[in-house]
Amino acid sequence: MAKIMFVREFGPSNIPYLSQALGILGTMLFDKGHEVSILDNNTNYIRYSTRQIMRRIDEFSPDLLGFNLNTFNARKTYQLIDLAKKKWPHIPVLAGGIHMKYCHKEAVEHQADVVVINEGECIIHDLVDAMLNHGGNKKTLVNSVEDIPGISYLDTEGVYHIGPQESQPVLMDLDQTPFINYDLFNLNDFIKIKNDSIYLGFIVAQRGCPYPCNFCSESYLIGNVRDNSADYIIGYMDYLNNKYGVTVIGFGDNNFTLSKKRTDEFCQKIQERNLNKKFSFYCQTNVKTNVTKDQAGMLKKSGFEHVSLGIERLTEEGKNLVNKYISPEKIQESITNLKSSGINVNSNLLVGFPWDTKELVLEEKRLFDQIAPSLSQIQSHVIVPMPGTEYYDDHPVLKEWYLDESFFKAYDTYFSQVLVVYLGPDIIKMNPFNHSRETIDAIKKIYYGSLINTYLKRTEKFNYRILFLIPQGFDLFLAGLSFLSYKISDRLESVLFGKLKQLRFLLGTKFAVKKIVENTDGKQMKIENLISDKVESTIGANFH
Ligand code: SF4
Repeated sequence: MAKIMFVREFGPSNIPYLSQALGILGTMLFDKGHEVSILDNNTNYIRYSTRQIMRRIDEFSPDLLGFNLNTFNARKTYQLIDLAKKKWPHIPVLAGGIHMKYCHKEAVEHQADVVVINEGECIIHDLVDAMLNHGGNKKTLVNSVEDIPGISYLDTEGVYHIGPQESQPVLMDLDQTPFINYDLFNLNDFIKIKNDSIYLGFIVAQRGCPYPCNFCSESYLIGNVRDNSADYIIGYMDYLNNKYGVTVIGFGDNNFTLSKKRTDEFCQKIQERNLNKKFSFYCQTNVKTNVTKDQAGMLKKSGFEHVSLGIERLTEEGKNLVNKYISPEKIQESITNLKSSGINVNSNLLVGFPWDTKELVLEEKRLFDQIAPSLSQIQSHVIVPMPGTEYYDDHPVLKEWYLDESFFKAYDTYFSQVLVVYLGPDIIKMNPFNHSRETIDAIKKIYYGSLINTYLKRTEKFNYRILFLIPQGFDLFLAGLSFLSYKISDRLESVLFGKLKQLRFLLGTKFAVKKIVENTDGKQMKIENLISDKVESTIGANFH
C-alpha cells in the first residue's frame, strides 16, 4: 500500500471549509489500505506558506501527490506543482477539482502528470494503482493510464491526450460515497474549540443542477441531478454527531428542496426520530422550485432555521438576461411561506454583468429594498467571470485572469474577514466589461452599501445589542486601519493584522457558542436568530 497526499491551497475564502471532494476520495483510498494525508489550507487559524506546505509534503514523503483546484486557488497550486516537480521529479502528480472541467489542458501544461476532468470516484482506485506503477518513468506512466476514461495527460512527445471518452462515468448512486473521515485532514488547524465542529457539519447531498442560469458554472456541469437518500443523510448526521459532536448541519446542495419526495421523506424521518431536538439545519434552494406553505412548515418543524433563496435579480429584464426567470408572485410566495413559518430567509443580488447599466442596477436595488423587510439579509455580489460561462468565454481579454498575482491580495486581510469580502473589490477595480464610470459608481454603491448593512444586521436581533456596539465599533475601526495599511502594502497589512485576524476568528467562534443556546428541555440546540459571522458567512458563500 502507498502513501498518498492531497493538498488544497487557500481558496481563497473567508470561511474555513474542508474539501468534500478530497475528503471522499481520501476516505476511499484510506479504506482500501493506503496511508492518506490531506492538507487543506482553507482554515482561518493558520495560512500555510508555500514553503511550509512543501515542508509538510517532505515530512510525509508521499508516493503520489494530488491537488484540488478551484479557479481561485489555481495560481498558487501551479506554483506548488512546479516546486514539487523540481524537488521530487519521481513523484507523480494528480490534479482534480471543479476548475479542471474546463481548464484541464492548462493544468497539464503546468506539469500535472494526470488530470481528472470530472468526478473522481468511479476511477480513483484504477487511476491511483496505474500512477503508482510508473517506476519514475514517464512512458510507463502514460502506458498505465491511457485506458482510463475521463482523464487527460501529455504523452512523452508532448502531445495532449484526453482519455478514451471525453465524458467519464459519473457516480449515479451518491449513497455509495463514504462518510468523510475528517481525521485524514489537518483537523487541528480547523478545530480549536467545541463550536468549530460547525465546519464539519457541511453536507453536499446533491450534485448537478437542472437550471440554465448563464452566470453559473454549475449550469454547465453535469446536467443529471443526483441526490443522496434521506436515510444516507441521516446516517451521515449520526456519524458526524457521534464522532465529531456536530449539531448544526449545513446543506451545500444547489437546490435542497428540488426533490419534493426526498425533502418530505427527510423531514418525516427527522421528526419521527426526534432528531430536530438534536440538530439544526440551514440550506439553500432555488425559488424556481417554489417552497409551498406546507413544505415551509415541515422544514421549520424539522429544525431548519435558515434558508437561502437564490434570487439574483428582480427586474424582468435582469431575470431574463441571466436566464433565471421567476415570476414575482412565485418569489414572494416562497419568501412569505418560509418567513411565516419562522425560518430566516436570506437572498442575494448579483450585479456587474456586461449588459448592466446604471439605471438597471439602481432599479434592481429599488426592488430588492421593497422585499428587504421580509428577509434577514440580502448580500450583493459582483459577478465573477468563471471559465465555462459565456461571461468568460466571450471575453478573450479575461483569459486566465485568475492567474494574475495581483488579483487576490485583498482576500486574506482583516477588513476582508470583517466585511466578508469576496472578489467584489478586485472585480470592480478590474472592470472586466468596461462599464461606464456611472455604472461602476452604481455597482459600488450597491456592493459596499450591502457589505456594511450585512455586517450591522448580523447583530441587529441580538438581545442587549447595545453591548455589542462598542466592540463592533472597534472592529470596524480596526478594519479601517487594516484597509489603510493594505493600501500601503499588502505585506504590511499581513504583518500587522495576521494575529489579530486569528484572535477575531476565535472570539467569533466563542460568541457563536453563546448564541447557539440550549433550549428549555436542556437537550435541544437551536440557532437563535442571526448568529455571528459563522453561519451567516457560510450561508453567504453558498449562494447560487
Ligand atoms: S445559479 Fe443555482 S439554480 Fe442556477 S444553474 Fe447555478 S446552481 Fe443551478
